[in-house]
Amino acid sequence: MGALGLKRDSVLELQRLSHVYVNEKGASLAVENIDLTVSRGQFVSLVGPSGCGKTTVLSLLAGLFPPTKGRVLLSGERVQGPSPKVGYMLQQDYLFPWRTIRDNAAVGLEISGRKTRSSMEAVDALLEEVGLPGAGHRFPHELSGGMRQRVALARTLATDPEVLLLDEPFSALDLHIKLQLEDLVDQTLKRLCKTAVLVTHDLAEAAAMSDRVIVLGRNPGRIRCELAVPDEIRLASPMNARKLPGFQELFERLWSELDAQDEEGGESDGGQ
Ligand code: ADP
Ligand code: MG
Repeated sequence: MGALGLKRDSVLELQRLSHVYVNEKGASLAVENIDLTVSRGQFVSLVGPSGCGKTTVLSLLAGLFPPTKGRVLLSGERVQGPSPKVGYMLQQDYLFPWRTIRDNAAVGLEISGRKTRSSMEAVDALLEEVGLPGAGHRFPHELSGGMRQRVALARTLATDPEVLLLDEPFSALDLHIKLQLEDLVDQTLKRLCKTAVLVTHDLAEAAAMSDRVIVLGRNPGRIRCELAVPDEIRLASPMNARKLPGFQELFERLWSELDAQDEEGGESDGGQ
């Protein structure tokens, strides 16, 4: 595989990535010199104050627009636009109200011309796996927020992407629903050996779900530091991880990194 073969198990690579947004108000440097490598099956979280460029990094990973500088590689190949290898899950579920749950979950398959009897059977199995057995014929308005996010997860997984990008997918949910969904996502992605990048402003969520947590600073968005999650916490389910003795310490380390950067400058936006 040539030079790239050296990093065979790296699924995602960001190389010296910078992005400048240009609009009628001028140009602003959103993220600068981001280097990041994510291995197959890894779960990485990006945390940082609002406006530090987390969503920008995910959008660049998804190929929604090209970076101003640097490169994004997916399985060694340069990302040049949206790809079926990448699935995106957002805070809003964007379910189509006029479609059944089953047809919503199959949207990606339909768009990519892969809707067949057997792929629809796989959709039914996924709906069951995410805890919605028999809900396929129902409509989004009949479901709670947590159930709708389960459909969004099934929809994301239905096209069998290699990488999942998760942008605050739990932040609109009540705490106990959010904790249940964290466990569901963790369990499902581990079983399917998916690689994931999660953006969240919830430090406990990042600590409980990830193998690695990347802390970003802002103005411009840069990687400030990276914390490796200790094995004991990493290998536990998110719910159990929160109960482990080392968890609080990990949380406090993350907290102090974010706190330190607020004191260093960058205006405060009053928290979130
Ligand atoms: P986060 O997700 O961490 O809150 P974003 O990636 O959304 O941060 O934004 C990073 C910076 O880029 C912010 O200063 C934001 O105002 C700016 N930004 C984001 N999207 C655009 C855009 N489409 N046009 C201009 N500036 C943008
Ligand atoms: Mg964002």
